[in-house]
Amino acid sequence: MDNSRSRARVILLNAALGPLDYRVPHGMAAEPGSVVIAPLGPRQVVGVVWEPDRAVTEEVGDNRLRPLLHAYDLPPLGDALRRLIEWTSDYYLAPLGAVLRMALPSTSALEGARSVTEYRATGRVPERLTPQRAQALERIGERMGFIRELAIVGGVSDAVVRGLVKAGAIEPVEVAIDAPYPEPDPDHAPPALAADQDEAARRLREAVGAGAFAPFLLDGVTGSGKTEVYFEAIAEALRRGRQTLVLLPEIALTEPFLKRFAARFGTDPVAWHSGLRQSQRRRAWRAIAAGDARVVVGARSSLFLPYRDLGLIVVDEAHEASFKQEDGVQYHARDVAVMRAKLEAIPVVLASATPAIETRHMVESGTYGELRLADRFGGARLPDMAALDLIQDPPPRGRWLAPALTEELQANLEAGEQSLLFLNRRGYAPLTLCRHCGYRFQCPNCTAWMVEHRFTRRLACHHCGHVMPAPQACPECKEEDSLVACGPGVERIADEVQSLFPEARTAVVTSDTIWSPAKAAEFVARMEAGEIDIVIGTQLVTKGYHFPNLTLVGVVDADLGLSGGDLRAAERTFQQIQQVSGRAGRGEKPGRVLVQTHDPSAAVIEALVSGDTEGFYAAETEARREAGMPPFGRLAAIIVSSENQAEATETARLIGRTAPSAENMAVFGPAPAPLAMLRGRHRLRLLVHAARSVPVQDIIREWLGSLEWPRSVRVAVDVDPYSFL
Ligand code: ADP
Ligand code: ZN
Repeated sequence: MDNSRSRARVILLNAALGPLDYRVPHGMAAEPGSVVIAPLGPRQVVGVVWEPDRAVTEEVGDNRLRPLLHAYDLPPLGDALRRLIEWTSDYYLAPLGAVLRMALPSTSALEGARSVTEYRATGRVPERLTPQRAQALERIGERMGFIRELAIVGGVSDAVVRGLVKAGAIEPVEVAIDAPYPEPDPDHAPPALAADQDEAARRLREAVGAGAFAPFLLDGVTGSGKTEVYFEAIAEALRRGRQTLVLLPEIALTEPFLKRFAARFGTDPVAWHSGLRQSQRRRAWRAIAAGDARVVVGARSSLFLPYRDLGLIVVDEAHEASFKQEDGVQYHARDVAVMRAKLEAIPVVLASATPAIETRHMVESGTYGELRLADRFGGARLPDMAALDLIQDPPPRGRWLAPALTEELQANLEAGEQSLLFLNRRGYAPLTLCRHCGYRFQCPNCTAWMVEHRFTRRLACHHCGHVMPAPQACPECKEEDSLVACGPGVERIADEVQSLFPEARTAVVTSDTIWSPAKAAEFVARMEAGEIDIVIGTQLVTKGYHFPNLTLVGVVDADLGLSGGDLRAAERTFQQIQQVSGRAGRGEKPGRVLVQTHDPSAAVIEALVSGDTEGFYAAETEARREAGMPPFGRLAAIIVSSENQAEATETARLIGRTAPSAENMAVFGPAPAPLAMLRGRHRLRLLVHAARSVPVQDIIREWLGSLEWPRSVRVAVDVDPYSFL
C-alpha cells in the first residue's frame, strides 16, 4: 500500500497551531480538502486535510502519529479555496487556522442532519406570567430559533425559555434544513437595456462564458443602472449552471437587494450574513458546498465559503470602507474577492459610482477592464449641488440647520416631496459636559466621549458599547441641571426638524433604528408609501436606496470627515457626499443638494459643487504618488495593546528598537494610538511605509517572529490599513 496516503497534514480550526500530521486509518477517505476530526491532546478538533508541502509545525515519526477520528461526508474544499486561504494568511499575516474558520460553519452544520428542532411562541399566555417571562415573550415575538437564540433575543437565561416551553407558551417545531432552494430564472423578467448598459452587459456575458480571470470596474453615476447590468452577468452564469457571489457592504442593504433580485429572477437569492439563524446558516452552507445555492448574496465573510462551482463574483458599492475587516483577520474583502476570482479563473465585477483611488489606478494601469455607464437611466438628471457657508449664513444659536436649508425643507414639504438630512453621527450629542465645573463624560474603557442617546435615555461609548443611564447631576461637582449636550447627532437634528416643522413626519435612520433586514424593509415600505417627509440618517442611508420622490438632500456637516486627516479623509468625504447626493432626484423630479460647510473653498467641496470629479481624483492621485502612499507604496500598521500600560509600552519600544532597515522602507513610531485606550487596553502604533517592491510581509514576519513579549500583550498587524486610530 502507498504509505504517503496513510499520512495526512491537517490544518485545525485553532489559530495558535500550524499544520499537524495525522495517520489516516484504513478505509477512511482523506484527501486534500477533506473535512475531518482530529485528536488534539484530550480534545477533538475539526480541521481540513492540506497538501503535504505546507510546512508542518513539528515533524513526527510514523510510529507516533495519532489517527484521524472521522472524515465528514462532504465535498472537499476546492484547490482554489485552499490557495485563497493560504494567500490570505500570508498576505495579511494571519494564522491559517483563523482564516480557515471563515470557510467552515459550526460543527453541527457539517453533520448531514435533515431537520433540526427550533422553538417559537404559541401565542398562549402562561399561567404564571412573571415580568421576565413577559419581557421574553414580547421580544421574541414571532421569531424562531434554538433555545439559546431565543434566550439572547429575549434578554433572559436559557432556563426562562425552557420554563416557557414547559408552560406551553413556546413550542418545538421541526424545521427541514435540507429543503432545496428554488432556482433563479435568468429569463424571468429581463429589462430592455439602454445602449451603454447593453454594451457593458455584453462584455460581462462574454467574460462569464470565457471562463478566465477578468477583473472589471463597473463605473457609472448613482442610478445609471449598474445593478441591472451585473444582473445580466448573473443571468449568464445561471444559464451556464454556475454559482455567483454578490458581496454587499452592509446587511441593511440586503433587503432592497433581495426585492430587486426577486423581481428580475423570480425568486430570492441565498443570503449569508451575521443575522441568520443557525439553522438558516446550516442550510445555506450545505447548499453552497453542494452547488445548489446558485446565487449567494452576502457580507464579506461569504467570500471564504466552499462554492462548488463559482462562475462570477460581484462586489457592489466596491469603494465602501466597511469591506475592510477591522478585527480578527484584518482583510479587505474587495481585494480578497479579486484574488479569489484569479484563483478560480472567473470574472469579478467591482461596481461603484465613486470608485476608490486604488481601483481607478488598476484601470488606468490596464490591469482592470472598465465598463462605464455615463448617464442616469431614463433621463433622470444628477442633482444640482450648492455649498452653504456656515460662517456667512450661520444657523440660529443652538441650532444646526442654516436658514437657506430650512427654507428648502419648507418648500419641499409644501410640494409634498421627501427630503433627507445626512449627518454621520449616531445619537443626540457627541459630548456631554458640566457647565459648572467643566467635567466631561468619558468612557472608562476608551479614549472617547460618551455619546448621549436620548431615545434610550443613555450615554453610550461607540467603541466598546459601555452604557450608563443619562445622568441628572454632575458626578464631579454634584450640581444638578448643569449638564449640557455639545454638538449634534442625528437625534438632535431630528428634534430641530420637529420643532421647525411640527407637522412633518420624520424618521431617524441609523444602526440604532435599522438593526435588521426586517427593519430596513419596514423603512423602505414607509418611504415608498409616502409616510415619511424628512429622513435624518447616518451613512446607512447613503447607499442603495431608490426613492423617486426624494428630491432634497442636506449635508449637515461636510467638514466632519475631514477633521481626522488620515490618508483617505478627502476621498472618503467626496465619496460619501456624492453617494448621499445620489439619493436625490432619482425619479422624474430633479433633485438638489445643499452642503453645509465652514470652508466652501476646500478642494473637496469645490470639486463636489462644480462636479469636477476627474479633477479631484487626479489631484488626490498625484498627491498619493508624490508621497509614495497606496496604491503607489505600501503601508502596514503594527498595533501593540495590553491592559498593562507598562508592558504595552515596553513591547512597542522593543519592536521599534529592533526594526530592520531595508531599502525603500521606513518604520515610524511607536507612538500612542489616537485611540490610546480601547476596551480597557492601552494601545500604541507603529507604521511601516515601503515601496511596492519591498516584501513587507516577509520582513514583518521575520522581525516579529524573532521577538518575545509578555502574554498580556497583543501585537496585531494591519496590512493596507484603512483605520489609523
Ligand atoms: P445603480 O446601481 O447604478 O445605482 P440601478 O441599477 O439601481 O442603478 O438603476 C436605477 C434605477 O433605474 C432602478 O430603479 C432601475 O430599476 C432602473 N433601471 C435602470 N436600468 C433600467 C432598464 N434598462 N430598464 C428599466 N429600468 C432600469
Ligand atoms: Zn468605550
